[in-house]
Amino acid sequence: MSKHLHKEGFVPKYLLEKLAKEGHEEAKKTLTQMESIVQNKTKETNSDDAENSDDAEISTSVAPLQGRRKIYDSENTEIFKKKLVRKEGDPPTSDESVNFAYDLCGQTLDYFKNKLGRNSVDNEGMDLIFNVHYAKDLNNAMWVPSVQQMAFGNGDGKLFINFTRSIDVIAHEMAHAVTEFTNELVYEHQSGALNEHFSDVIGSAVKQHVKGQTAENADWLIGNEIIGPEFPGKALRSMKDPGTASQFDHQPAHFDDYKELPLSKDNGGVHLYSGIPNKAFVLVSLEIGTDQAAFLWYTAFQNKQIIHPNATFEEAFEAIVHTADMLTGQGKLPQQAVDAVKNAFREVGIPRQS
Ligand SMILES: [Zn+2]
Repeated sequence: MSKHLHKEGFVPKYLLEKLAKEGHEEAKKTLTQMESIVQNKTKETNSDDAENSDDAEISTSVAPLQGRRKIYDSENTEIFKKKLVRKEGDPPTSDESVNFAYDLCGQTLDYFKNKLGRNSVDNEGMDLIFNVHYAKDLNNAMWVPSVQQMAFGNGDGKLFINFTRSIDVIAHEMAHAVTEFTNELVYEHQSGALNEHFSDVIGSAVKQHVKGQTAENADWLIGNEIIGPEFPGKALRSMKDPGTASQFDHQPAHFDDYKELPLSKDNGGVHLYSGIPNKAFVLVSLEIGTDQAAFLWYTAFQNKQIIHPNATFEEAFEAIVHTADMLTGQGKLPQQAVDAVKNAFREVGIPRQS
């Protein structure tokens, strides 16, 4: 797999750096911990014995593969698959992080299956391996491509709280896995911003579905459930009002404000410019409903010819309009979907008028 795949946590590096600069020691510590994960200095215990017996037990079932959950406790170390604490079908444990991870992963898998027609993150029923209590007070959560597992920190309790608590965090990270198995969108510049955007789309759609919200009454915030008392804002991002979530949120909402940034700045602005297509997604959701819009986006992103690893915002728009046209023709989306997409993207300046 490509080296340029998503390798950041839910809390972007640039944001941790800003918090560290303001004197938050815990943010500095998380940056060091993230570095060791990115450099693949990750350890795994040999838990094959436990896993084999588990597989043998489940393989007697005739059901096709369908994303079984396995929750491991890292016990505040950076070790993956340290101790299996709950697997598919097991009753709840006394650890709420384990139960949150199990339940919210299940809700995301259900959304994939029932609303998007997808069988787990790889569409082939891959098992989901979650490591909770990962590292000491880690202010992050992430899909780790090198081991194809999820890892969740407890947070330090000041800047961030337990990352397993939030459905949009879990669905956002699982969507990064979907992208990796689908488009392999390079995690730089516009393709990287589309990678982030797709995860925010899926994160918000699953969140609204689970909470019984609509495009009209949802908060459209990303990460508002995991921020702690010392975080200078209400969330990491706002899809509806980009740039308003925190003191460090400078997301523009219009393509005119897009500038080519060096890779040293948030990989060329992957968390900065995702706000532009995010805003377009909200506008389309307000017209046709969030689930329908998420289905449209998901279907469009399956078009790997147009949404290729280095895809641009304008190519994503092209894929989404094309898909809206196709799905309305098949009666799978309401008639106004095509115009809704064109109007929404025009409002955020895509495609560029020359
Ligand atoms: Zn992300």
